[in-house]
Amino acid sequence: MRSLFICPNCGGSLEKEGNSFYCRNRHCFDMAKQGYINLLQSNQSSRKHHGDDRMMVKSRRDFLEKGFYAGLRDRLCDDIMHCVDKPSVLVDAGCGEGYYTRAVTQSLKSKGALSAAGGIDISKDAVAYASKAGGEIQYAVASVFDIPLKDETADIVLNIFAPYATDEFFRILKPGGLLVIAYPLENHLLELKQAVYDEAYKNDSIPSVPDGFRQISSREVRQTLCFESNDDIVNLFRMTPYYYKTGADDQKKLENLKTLETSFEVGIMYCKKQV
Ligand SMILES: [Zn+2]
Repeated sequence: MRSLFICPNCGGSLEKEGNSFYCRNRHCFDMAKQGYINLLQSNQSSRKHHGDDRMMVKSRRDFLEKGFYAGLRDRLCDDIMHCVDKPSVLVDAGCGEGYYTRAVTQSLKSKGALSAAGGIDISKDAVAYASKAGGEIQYAVASVFDIPLKDETADIVLNIFAPYATDEFFRILKPGGLLVIAYPLENHLLELKQAVYDEAYKNDSIPSVPDGFRQISSREVRQTLCFESNDDIVNLFRMTPYYYKTGADDQKKLENLKTLETSFEVGIMYCKKQV
């Protein structure tokens, strides 16, 4: 079996032999027991903090499994299905624990529009979970800034609340391929931030359409999320990029919070790579 991914050392195709993948130069990548491969090169993994740690992954998994973000997930699936007219290679760049990867893969498959699916994330814990959850998706630990895929491999690239690497997305997409970017709007989770910080900042403005792409549509998903358990509130906070930047005193403010209503405001941009 040939991997969707390529060797990060030489760019060669990876073929499965036993429980490992080898390129033609015999660079070897062992498959983890959950089924993913680690293609992060040592100079990338030497960073002190790379990706989300196990607790953060667990929090996000517990939270997402309760369906709080199902509205966004279903919107993505429907919109993508409308853009796709042939069997497609899907790549989720910054897939986390695969929540959106699985859903989009499943909806493509149900319409006979799936050719292959892959997900990458720099967090090994996230990829391990995603891989365990299955769904005919190949997963690799890798950086979105250095995606181990040949040029023009993907028909669809997902980038959901993940770092943008627009040059890489351009490189791996086929001409005419679809780039889907989801990002927080100004007031996303504002009330959650207000519960933690004396001064809660709004999110930055909307990302611009990357060079080489044409926007074909955009959408805003807005709803009010109501939480009635402290676990859910804490899990949501741990999912956010603010978590690691927040001191212990501010984090403590969440400990006694039993209920919360907060804005969910997410933008989705659909762009096509220009031919
Ligand atoms: Zn190689």
